[in-house]
Amino acid sequence: MLITCPYCGPRDVIEFTYQGDGNRERPDPASQNFEAWNAYVYDRLNPAGDHNEIWQHSGGCRTHLRVVRNTLTHEISSVAFVRGDHQGRGDHGSAARRKAEDKS
Ligand SMILES: [Zn+2]
Repeated sequence: MLITCPYCGPRDVIEFTYQGDGNRERPDPASQNFEAWNAYVYDRLNPAGDHNEIWQHSGGCRTHLRVVRNTLTHEISSVAFVRGDHQGRGDHGSAARRKAEDKS
């Protein structure tokens, strides 16, 4: 299975680490709603078809990606940064990019 990283291009899945179900919404950290926390920690979808997943390119640029993968065929229909374009790399990536842009 190949995942196309927006930074690095198509790479084998062995370079990526599955980070979990991309459909979960974390409750407010101050919340004491135990049912909401229990659902966040334990409830999982198990779809036969497209599934929204979070993957990290741990063997490459380390960016977190939102991947839509068909669980029956492993076909990937969408790959995007979890936090929007360029924000998935954090401040280090932004600083490096600004530095490169300053030189041009
Ligand atoms: Zn990458």
